[in-house]
Amino acid sequence: MSKNAEQALGEIKSLLGPKGWTDDEKKLAPRLVEERGLFKGSSPLLVMPANTDEVSSVMKIAFTANVSVVPQGGNTGVVGGGVPNGEIILSLERMNNIEDVNPIDMSMTVGAGCILANVQAAAADAGTYFPLSLGSEGSCQIGGNLSTNAGGVQVFRYGNARELVLGLEAVMANGHIWNGLQSLRKDNSGYDLKQLFIGSEGTLGVITRATLRLFPAPNAYATALAGCTSYEDALKLFLHARANIGEQLSAVEVMDSFAIELAVRHIPNCHDPFNEKQNVYVLLEATSTNPNAALGDLMEKVLSEAMDNGLAVDVVIAQSESQREGLWRLRDGIPEAQKKEGGSIKHDISVPISKVPEFISRATELVKKEIPGVRPVPFGHLGDGNIHFNLTQPENADKQEYLSNWGRINALVHDLAINMGGSFSAEHGIGLLKVGDMNNFKRGDGVALMTQLKKALDPKNTLNPGKVLDSPGAGLAKND
Ligand SMILES: Cc1cc2nc3c(=O)[nH]c(=O)nc-3n(C[C@H](O)[C@H](O)[C@H](O)COP(=O)(O)OP(=O)(O)OC[C@H]3O[C@@H](n4cnc5c(N)ncnc54)[C@H](O)[C@@H]3O)c2cc1C
Repeated sequence: MSKNAEQALGEIKSLLGPKGWTDDEKKLAPRLVEERGLFKGSSPLLVMPANTDEVSSVMKIAFTANVSVVPQGGNTGVVGGGVPNGEIILSLERMNNIEDVNPIDMSMTVGAGCILANVQAAAADAGTYFPLSLGSEGSCQIGGNLSTNAGGVQVFRYGNARELVLGLEAVMANGHIWNGLQSLRKDNSGYDLKQLFIGSEGTLGVITRATLRLFPAPNAYATALAGCTSYEDALKLFLHARANIGEQLSAVEVMDSFAIELAVRHIPNCHDPFNEKQNVYVLLEATSTNPNAALGDLMEKVLSEAMDNGLAVDVVIAQSESQREGLWRLRDGIPEAQKKEGGSIKHDISVPISKVPEFISRATELVKKEIPGVRPVPFGHLGDGNIHFNLTQPENADKQEYLSNWGRINALVHDLAINMGGSFSAEHGIGLLKVGDMNNFKRGDGVALMTQLKKALDPKNTLNPGKVLDSPGAGLAKND
């Protein structure tokens, strides 16, 4: 480390005081690896500023001394975006205030370090609803959710994270504070600057506070699982539900037979409710703000029509909250179950909804030809055309040898998705994992335009370098 950088680190430490930093190796260790263990990095220092002014001062000192900074939230991201490569880690965990919940404006202002589950709970306490919902909600932070433009199981009805934000405060690479906090529904005063920071994975600015959009709280639920013969039938079932349940349909998840098999095998209290194993499972949830809405009756009518028309082979509708939780556990348990089954090559693609069955069929054929015995585990957000086309290693294969196929298989599957009008990154982002794919698959001259933006907002490339866009000096080795 240069003398200049050492001096900057010293300045930062004395600015923040003992509560605001650590270089204890044991405390740093979990911050140097990401969720899937694909990348392992290094960092000399973790800083935890208490407020926006402190974030600004840290960034100013770092900028002046050419010291790079990686923002990190709950570190639940799955593309390595928060893994440091020698940079300082900036955590906003102390900036976790729920500052204001306003049920008239239907907005709430929170610190970026708030855990998502706490944001949801604060909204609920005020009789409102914040719909962003992910498997990681007990540990991910709203700053991380916005920086990755997180998706999850409610996108079908409420949109991605970027659609749930009214205002934002961010600190730029040079320490400048941009205050765009506001609770307006309408503001057409030029460029929508907050959207630059949402989904930019900490490469254009540090999100420090956000004003979020709230909704009326759901008071009635109907949750059902349907078993279908094929993905074509699963799609038709979804279209039938969409046409007949309308805007009350809030989640539409699809799961392959093998995904359910893994969840049942590896996750406690996971049971397939059907007597016979189904080829494809569809989880449907309808919600209403009206406590008297007869959603159960509507769901029953729609699903019995689906059975009459041959779209579903069997259906079950949750009759209690614990049955509802049981159905969701099947869906939420799949990522963990895959981990327990062995090595898994992952894809997070989207295609137009109409092409989901064709994509799954063509991608399955493709990967089975490349790796005999590979076990595809397609599942995901059917209502959004977003499929996690994950591939579990062949039985008895060597895990590391299997994972060495990651790049080659990703390239084939991503190419297929793009050729079908889709995207190689639907909701998880780019991070480090997909930087290489950006040049190959980003549409139009997107990479060139993004590079210009990056240079304008982070001229020294000191903010999360090497993530999203390739940049000189980056190149953290992949740890598989
Ligand atoms: C079990 C499980 C289920 C998941 N399900 C989903 C899902 O359904 N949908 C989905 O989209 N994702 C999902 N994820 C991925 C992950 O939870 C999300 O990407 C989440 O939004 C990341 O939040 P985080 O606080 O953990 O961010 P981190 O992982 O810490 O960081 C992610 C990125 O954001 C940047 N960042 C973090 N905080 C800030 C900030 N304040 N300012 C600027 N940049 C920042 C980091 O530098 C990094 O690039 C899941 C993960 C797990 C483990």
